[in-house]
Amino acid sequence: MKIVMVGAGYVGLVSGACFADFGHDVICVDRDESKLELLKLGKMPIYEPGLEALVERNVSQDRLRFSNDLASAVAGADVVFIAVGTPSRRGDGHADLSYVHGVAEEVGRALNGFTVVVTKSTVPVGTGDAVERIIAEANPEAQFAVVSNPEFLREGSAIEDFKRPDRVVIGTEDDRARAAMSELYRPLSLNASPIFFTSRRTAELTKYAANAFLAMKITFINEIADLCEQLDADVQDVARGIGMDGRIGSKFLHAGPGYGGSCFPKDTLALVKTAQDAECPVRLIETTVSINEQRKRSMGRKIIKACGGSVRGKKIAIFGLTFKPNTDDMRDAPSISIIQALQDAGAHIAAYDPVGMESAGGLLTDVAFADGIYEAAEDADAVAIVTEWDEFRSLDLQRLKSLMKTPIMVDLRNIYNSDEVIRGGFSYVGVGRAKTP
Ligand code: NAD
Repeated sequence: MKIVMVGAGYVGLVSGACFADFGHDVICVDRDESKLELLKLGKMPIYEPGLEALVERNVSQDRLRFSNDLASAVAGADVVFIAVGTPSRRGDGHADLSYVHGVAEEVGRALNGFTVVVTKSTVPVGTGDAVERIIAEANPEAQFAVVSNPEFLREGSAIEDFKRPDRVVIGTEDDRARAAMSELYRPLSLNASPIFFTSRRTAELTKYAANAFLAMKITFINEIADLCEQLDADVQDVARGIGMDGRIGSKFLHAGPGYGGSCFPKDTLALVKTAQDAECPVRLIETTVSINEQRKRSMGRKIIKACGGSVRGKKIAIFGLTFKPNTDDMRDAPSISIIQALQDAGAHIAAYDPVGMESAGGLLTDVAFADGIYEAAEDADAVAIVTEWDEFRSLDLQRLKSLMKTPIMVDLRNIYNSDEVIRGGFSYVGVGRAKTP
C-alpha cells in the first residue's frame, strides 16, 4: 500500500520506517528542512535504538523516502497519517491542535481518489470530526474517510513496541477505511497482536484514558513511597508485594521523581481540560497532575535535605537528564525542575547524560556538562541519579568516593541497594526506602 506519514518525529519516523519494513511503500513528509537533510544523509534526527539501521535498510530497498512536498506525496497515497505534535496550548493546557488542523487542510487540498486519512497524533475526542470538516471544506469533491489510530509506542523501545504491540486501536465507522486499515496492519495480526476496532471518538478517548491511568499508577506508588519514608517501610517491597497480584500488575510501580516526557504531562492535562469542558471533571486525574507537578521540584528539596539542608555554593552532580533512558527527549523531564530548584538554592550543577546533553543544552542554563560520570562527580558535594541509564547501574563506588568532596548519593530511581552504597562509605538516600538499621 502507498502510505504517507506527515510528521517525521518520534512517532512518525518510527511508524513510517516500520510500515516500510512490513513491505509498504512509505513517504515521510516533514516541513523541517534540517530534519529532512539529515534523513537524506542517513543520519537520524532523534536517538532511538535500532532506528538508523531500520531506516537505512528500507531506504536502500526503495520502500522509504523523505520529502517536504506534501501535495505530491498525498496525491498518490492510499493512506495518509497525521503524526504531527499536539503539545499543551500555551495558557490553558488544552491540546494545541493547530498543527493537526493545518495538515488536515493541506491534505484536503491534495487528495486525489478515495484516501483514508488517519490521525496518529494524540488528539482530544472530536478531533476526527474536525479533521473531516476541514478536509471537506478545503476540497468539497474529496472522497475520504477519517480514522483514529492512536499510537502507544514508548520512546527507547519504539521499534519493538510498534512491531509487537499489545494491541492496535482503530476508530472508524467506515467499511472501506476498516478494510484498508486491516490490510495495512495485516503483518501485525500475523504476529498475533490484536487489532481492536471501535468508534472514532472511543479510539480518541482510549489513548488519553491509557496514559492517564499509567500516570495515575506512577503517582500512586510515588505517594506510597513518601508514606514508606515516614513509616520506615520499603516501597520496593510494597511494589513487589502488590505487583504480584494479577489485578494490579507489576509494571509502572517504580517510585521515582515523578513522570515526565512528551506524553504523560500534556495528555493528562488535556484530558482534564476536555473533561471540564464536558462538565464531567476527572478528579483523580486532576489530582494526579497536581501531585506530579509538585513532586519534581520536591525532589530538588530532597537533594538539599540530603546535603544537610543547604546547597549554597555546593556542587551537585546530576547523573541523567532525559526523562527516561534510551532517548534524547528532554520534554518535561523531571531533571529540569530538579536542577532549577537546586540552582534557586544556590547550587552549582555539573551534569552528565549519555545522549541527552545536546537537547538539554537548549533548556538548561549555567550547567557544566561533563564528558562522563566521573568527570561530573569531581569535587562534588553530592551526586543525584535522576535517570536510570544502564551505565549508572554499576558505578565504581570507590572511585566515585575518591573523587567527591563529600560522599552523598541521592538515588531518585532506586537503582542501588542501599546497604551496598552505605558499605562503600556513602551516605545514601533513595525514594521510599526503609532506614538502614
Ligand atoms: P515530534 O515533535 O517529535 O514530531 C512532530 C513532527 O511533525 C516534527 O518533525 C515537525 O517538524 C512535524 N510537523 C509539524 N507540522 C508539520 C506540518 N504542517 N507538515 C509536516 N510536518 C510537520 O512529535 P512526536 O513525539 O512524534 O509526537 C507526535 C504525536 O504523537 C503527538 O500527538 C504525541 O502526543 C503522539 N505520541 C507521541 C509518543 C512519543 O513517545 N513521542 C507516543 C505516542 C503518541
